[in-house]
Amino acid sequence: MSRIKVGDQVIILQGKDRGKVGKVIERIPGKDKLVVEGINIAKRHVRARKRGQDSGIIEREAPLSVSKVMIVCPRCGKRTRIGVRVSGDSLEEREKLRICKKCGEGID
Ligand SMILES: [Zn+2]
Repeated sequence: MSRIKVGDQVIILQGKDRGKVGKVIERIPGKDKLVVEGINIAKRHVRARKRGQDSGIIEREAPLSVSKVMIVCPRCGKRTRIGVRVSGDSLEEREKLRICKKCGEGID
């Protein structure tokens, strides 16, 4: 289970975009996949569905596996794993905060 969320900066660990950093723009529900802005661009041929629409090739980010990325900490700028800190005293107020395992600062 990944704790990466939309809006996080991630670094790509594998594949043709290895070493690049981008922002998560979408999570694929039910799958451990996400879409990162400007990463894993795939060309797709599209056919015009409506009159006036162009057919041709569009370039769009394809989802990639969360195992191929690591979050980049917004505080210390290092690639890191995410830890969890529980805050609040009562059960109702209890909240899970994501923290950077490198610097210990909160990520959200
Ligand atoms: Zn950090």
